[in-house]
Amino acid sequence: MTSEQWSAVDAYISGLLVNGDPALDEALAASAAAGLPRIEVSPNQGKMLHLIAKIHGARSILEIGTLGGYSTIWLARALPPDGRLVTLEYEPKHAEVARANIDRAGFADRVEVRVGPALDSLAVLHHEGAGPFDLVFVDADKPNNPGYLTWALKLTRPGGVIVVDNVVRGGRVVDPADTDPAVVGTRELGRMLSEEPRVSATMVQTVGSKGYDGFALIRIDD
Ligand code: SAM
Repeated sequence: MTSEQWSAVDAYISGLLVNGDPALDEALAASAAAGLPRIEVSPNQGKMLHLIAKIHGARSILEIGTLGGYSTIWLARALPPDGRLVTLEYEPKHAEVARANIDRAGFADRVEVRVGPALDSLAVLHHEGAGPFDLVFVDADKPNNPGYLTWALKLTRPGGVIVVDNVVRGGRVVDPADTDPAVVGTRELGRMLSEEPRVSATMVQTVGSKGYDGFALIRIDD
């Protein structure tokens, strides 16, 4: 199959099951207008995150990597009215666009965008006694994935769920000669998971409009 076919099938699935969505479409348009990179999850992946949060009954969500708030809005839609989502973003401009998008989507009351290096923000959250969160979505700079997993394990409740995006990287993750820090960080995350006695985890390969990649699904043992 070609990437054109993957994109066509993604559009078919999206047309069947995800449909047009003004708040999310506006978030994408505002992000593009502000010059943000098009590296958000696809609509089908966003809906999957929403469904995971909904099925899990998540009331508190932590997201690492906000960009323009596209995945944030999908996740926030799964929360009950008194639910809470904290999302961490390094770039002030991304955070500013995300705040406007989240506000327009009607979630300003339950979503907090924190600006700064996520490893620092995670340490602050832990110091504040935030969490434990029901669900953590990891989707920031990939070289720091080992650190994000370490913090996610500390900040997720027993029975909670962690989702990590982009863990296959076009298949490069299985090439030991590939020393790209993003690949190395992701491979290290896999190694840590394989040796972590407190979790049950898998990784699922995906193709679609975002190319060939995959996500990790992790459950913290009770
Ligand atoms: N989750 C978003 C979505 O699907 O709509 C996409 C997030 S994008 C793939 C990754 C984001 O992580 C970018 O906005 C980038 O600025 C941010 N980022 C990169 N390094 C970071 C760091 N050290 N701390 C926090 N955020 C970081």
